[in-house]
Amino acid sequence: MQALLLREEGYAVERAEIWYAETRQRVHITVDDAALRDVTDTVTRAWRVASDPSAPPPLRDSPKCARCSLVGICLPDELDALQTPPKQRRPLKRLMAPVLEGRPVYVTLQGAVVGVRSDRLEVRLSGELKASYRLIDVSQV
Ligand code: SF4
Repeated sequence: MQALLLREEGYAVERAEIWYAETRQRVHITVDDAALRDVTDTVTRAWRVASDPSAPPPLRDSPKCARCSLVGICLPDELDALQTPPKQRRPLKRLMAPVLEGRPVYVTLQGAVVGVRSDRLEVRLSGELKASYRLIDVSQV
């Protein structure tokens, strides 16, 4: 993507590098027409997914899910189990709440306003109270 932006501004870009800090790995990338077409196609697909009102299906058996903050509402293993005949199902992983003193609050209402009033977290839509939680029970929003 960065290479595309630089090329658009008139720079010659023939190679790029991505540094993964956690694994301390550097990946070299040749920036050619095929790679730029791949990026353009990926961005086009991403825009298509973002403009679709329904969520895409969850990933299947992906290592990304274990550390994803959305796993509690996305439920990829559970949905996979529901779509798999009972005899072929993998055992479900147990969901473990990492923070015992609070629960995360996921706000999925388009246009919702989140605020704090009298030690409570409130979620409102067009001024109407939709949900209210004691702050002490909330670990993150
Ligand atoms: S849990 Fe996260 S990574 Fe896995 S499918 Fe859902 S959104 Fe994607």
